[in-house]
Amino acid sequence: MSITMTLMQGAYIIAGLLFILALAGLSKHETAPNGNKFGIVGMTIALIVTVYAAVAGIDVAPLGKSVGDRAGTGMVGLGLIAGAMAVGAAIGIWRARRVEMTGMPELIALLHSFVGIAAVLVGWNSSYETAEYPAIHDVEVFVGVFIGAVTFTGSIVAYLKLSAKIKSAPLVLPARHWMNLGAIAAFFVMTVIYTLTPHENVMLRQSLLGATTVIALLLGWHLVASIGGGDMPVVVSMLNSYSGWAAAAAGFLLDNDLLIITGALVGSSGAFLSYIMCRAMNRSFISVIAGGFGVESGTSAGDVDYGEHREINAEGAAALLTEARSVVITPGYGMATAQAQYAVAELTRKLRERGIDVRFGIHPVAGRLPGHMNVLLAEAKVPYDIVLEMDEINDDLAATDVVLVIGANDTVNPAAMDDPGSPIAGMPVLRVWEAKDVIVFKRSMATGYAGVQNPLFFKENSQMLFGDAKARVEDILAAL
Ligand code: NDP
Repeated sequence: MSITMTLMQGAYIIAGLLFILALAGLSKHETAPNGNKFGIVGMTIALIVTVYAAVAGIDVAPLGKSVGDRAGTGMVGLGLIAGAMAVGAAIGIWRARRVEMTGMPELIALLHSFVGIAAVLVGWNSSYETAEYPAIHDVEVFVGVFIGAVTFTGSIVAYLKLSAKIKSAPLVLPARHWMNLGAIAAFFVMTVIYTLTPHENVMLRQSLLGATTVIALLLGWHLVASIGGGDMPVVVSMLNSYSGWAAAAAGFLLDNDLLIITGALVGSSGAFLSYIMCRAMNRSFISVIAGGFGVESGTSAGDVDYGEHREINAEGAAALLTEARSVVITPGYGMATAQAQYAVAELTRKLRERGIDVRFGIHPVAGRLPGHMNVLLAEAKVPYDIVLEMDEINDDLAATDVVLVIGANDTVNPAAMDDPGSPIAGMPVLRVWEAKDVIVFKRSMATGYAGVQNPLFFKENSQMLFGDAKARVEDILAAL
């Protein structure tokens, strides 16, 4: 084995370790910036080595595996790769700079779809290889194309749902679970036939691969289309996991260890995140990944007459806050759209200066991304130690003087606990109504993401503070 090859394998191992450190770092607020840096350095090393390997014609093959000769792409290849990377980077930088924080889930869903289609293309490309290879290669082609195609269309549907281009209500086709099961069974049968078909029978092999691609594309579309709006957080992290497995499958086809390691890291961490989200939302992991298997959609019409709501103005809210000893702030998606986090941080600072105990209660699916609220509050420099998870704060809410619900709705909806027919029934929520006073910041009486009316707004101790959350918090600051 040449020195260059050894160095390249070493670089891949270092990049793999950096990715593991990146994931470990991202698990806590304090270490997240370092985690990001590890990820960036790891990816830079991976890119340099991979491009060099392609240009010089070196296969960075698994340790101990014999490596055949391969022509490098040379300077022409380098030019093409650099050109493709420049176009990709330009589009990436342009989109990332323009995207609002609230548009991140859509962007992420779209990026997952790119990983999916890349795996499909790698699979098809590998199916044309003429060299002698073991039967397991055929299985890898099928698995790569299947996972890639499911990820591709699933992510497109998630993108359309999250950007409200199609309705987020679940698509309920008759015998939908049998269709899903049939698609998976067809995939297994076709994989076996493909593997047993001699290479000379190009027509049959290509037809089988084509049929599998179409079935997987339809399955991905159907799986995500049949999941309701309230379960979209799990879908996003699940597609993240699928995109990891799709990349790992492409890694097997390309004989690239680093792609296998990276794909497996993304796949398993995404799967674990989906599991955590399912637990947080009291949903069955299996039922969500199987397109809502075993779950009946909510039947509650949600048009119950809850009576009259009460309103408060900024001066009234400032007066309540001044008299309070303890305040809990529960932010939601509306804080992100209003970009109210800086004003909220300033309000927190002012109240704490007056000796008032201020803490935050974060619901695991508040906003439109896992950790969405934590990112916004960290951006506005709210101290980490007063930002608590739902489970850490829920039991303290009954002893709280004032709760400020800033642009949250589904995550503070008592119907999740009280109405078994509600589409969000069973989802644990922040029990803000147990506090002495609740002030709800939103622009109207409109429903949240799940489209369910919120009885909290009509409770005796709740008052609505209508208007843009940022403007209203600034009004309170002025009145304090
Ligand atoms: P919701 O989406 O339930 O409600 C947000 C509320 O914010 C709306 O009712 C809206 O009311 C209000 N709002 C919007 N803009 C403003 C503004 N400028 N100023 C003040 N208020 C505003 O938010 P939650 O965070 O409580 O719940 C998140 C929902 O999103 C859950 O259903 C979750 O399942 C889902 N979801 C979460 C994902 C995640 O990963 N976290 C991913 C995908 C979906 P109005 O229009 O009256 O102002």
